[in-house]
Amino acid sequence: MDNVRTVETPVLIVGGGPVGLTASVLLARLGVPSLLVERRPGVTDHPRSRLINTRTVEVLRSCGLESAFEEISLPKAWRQQVIYTTSLAGKELGRVKTDAWAGDATLSPVLPLISSQDKMEPLLRECAEGLPGAELRFSTELIGLEQDERGVTATLLDHQAQRKEQLRTSYLIGADGAGSFVRRQLGLGWVGQTGIASLMNVYFLADLSPWIADRPAALYWVSSKGVTGVLAPLDGEERWVCQIGYNPEHESTGDFTPERCADWIRAAVGDASVPLNILSINPWTLSSVIAERLRRGRVFLVGDAAHQLPPTGGFGMNTGMQAMHNLAWKLAGVIQGWAAPRLLDTYELERVPVARYNSEKSLENFMLVARVNAAVMAQGAGETEVDDETRAAIRGARRYGNFIGMDLGFAYAQGAVVPDGSAPPKVADDVSRYIPTARPGHRAPHVPLVKDGREISSLDLFDFRFTLLTGANGSAWIEAGRKLAQARGLPLSAYRIGPYGELSDPAARFLDAYGLSSQGAVLVRPDGHVGWRSRLASTEPGPTLERALALLLGR
Ligand SMILES: Cc1cc2nc3c(=O)[nH]c(=O)nc-3n(C[C@H](O)[C@H](O)[C@H](O)COP(=O)(O)OP(=O)(O)OC[C@H]3O[C@@H](n4cnc5c(N)ncnc54)[C@H](O)[C@@H]3O)c2cc1C
Repeated sequence: MDNVRTVETPVLIVGGGPVGLTASVLLARLGVPSLLVERRPGVTDHPRSRLINTRTVEVLRSCGLESAFEEISLPKAWRQQVIYTTSLAGKELGRVKTDAWAGDATLSPVLPLISSQDKMEPLLRECAEGLPGAELRFSTELIGLEQDERGVTATLLDHQAQRKEQLRTSYLIGADGAGSFVRRQLGLGWVGQTGIASLMNVYFLADLSPWIADRPAALYWVSSKGVTGVLAPLDGEERWVCQIGYNPEHESTGDFTPERCADWIRAAVGDASVPLNILSINPWTLSSVIAERLRRGRVFLVGDAAHQLPPTGGFGMNTGMQAMHNLAWKLAGVIQGWAAPRLLDTYELERVPVARYNSEKSLENFMLVARVNAAVMAQGAGETEVDDETRAAIRGARRYGNFIGMDLGFAYAQGAVVPDGSAPPKVADDVSRYIPTARPGHRAPHVPLVKDGREISSLDLFDFRFTLLTGANGSAWIEAGRKLAQARGLPLSAYRIGPYGELSDPAARFLDAYGLSSQGAVLVRPDGHVGWRSRLASTEPGPTLERALALLLGR
């Protein structure tokens, strides 16, 4: 091989999309050095992902990125409904209120956001580049990969210097997207349905305010005999994307010239003269698949390399970023020596069910919208009427945009979790309903607290460390936790909440929300999921916590 240089890094991240960039940020925050390689010369300039759901914004908040992401978000007024229409100028078929995109301040300190991937990636990149330990190299492609018991040897091609380089790493994260080279090198196929639909994603500038100024919406689904697809605002001003379906048996991507896309957009608007500027056109295929395995040896798959979700619902990137949040602290634990390598097995155990569920529900959303289109086509709802079947189909599509249960309610039934024998809360619909709970495996609930005179959320305490929380009479747990952490070199913070504690609970909600007596305790993992809980006091808090930690850390 020409110009071979050998370098070493604990973690190599392949791919600088939103998930790879998130990996870089999270690992740096956890004190793990990493190298990210991205084959493109920079981050994307073509928008795909828009929805950043509540849980992802919580993760971004923990990285200090919440305000930066709020600044690039579509204003809240646009996030509250989805409109179904024959064209923007034509007959409105119906509206669905979208609670999950509007957010709920009682459930989280953050609101979900809608932005565009070309605005998100630069923020993640800038954040990663500012953190010690995170190195990012663009125009650098992974072209070879071999692993043995002690590590992974990666071959990189620097496109600018035209130089190959060999890199030795303890762990490799394949965040290299749907066509993942890493996944193929591992010999892993997809499970699920690929190629469900073929679409063109068109990014354009246009002033569509004459048709929508008084009815801002997150999505405008257009359905008529002439044109079917979706128009999606990116900034509430002139930046838009649309998705145009096509049949690959009869058409090719090359048929979608800027002129043809502009004609489609004008038909969807219902005005043949609207001025447009087409910026970019990208084909994509709608699939609902998960890789056969998310890990082989020292190599992990995350993001679209691990699963492709139909974007109907906006869960693809979110599922990937949250999976990275799940994996990052486990890698940190093993690399820093406070967890056993066995902990890494729990990544796949915990994340496959979540990815499968999100994928299934996203596919259901796709079918719900297809039902609206079918109703319009079959029954001829047009400029003059909206028939019963179309109305029913739109009502039936309510879950699309109302999925707070999917967003915050997902839980890990097995993995790095110590069950406490309690049952999960019963909800009428686990997609659209969410009941906060601190049952082990679930996301630790948001409770407003006061620390050093400042209002915070309980979620702000989970800053990349284990967090032990107790009620006002839980000093014995706190003492035992601190001793254990010191003895084991474990990053752990411990807080007593209530009168005379480090934190006060002005709304008196903590004990109830976390299902504790004032002498009970809960141990929250560095990713904000509850690992262990004891509702009551223990006569042996030290050994009890030690057993729990041994189970959580795979020791
Ligand atoms: C139309 C559309 C709308 C969507 N809307 C949403 C939404 O609202 N919300 C949501 O959560 N998701 C949405 N998604 C899905 C979302 O875009 C993806 O899930 C997300 O981009 C996946 O991020 P990633 O980092 O895993 O992969 P990618 O974004 O694909 O990034 C992978 C990166 O790896 C690089 N790479 C590939 N091979 C190599 C190699 N060998 N060496 C080095 N680098 C390599 C690529 O250049 C690329 O930059 C949407 C998708 C589409 C198509």
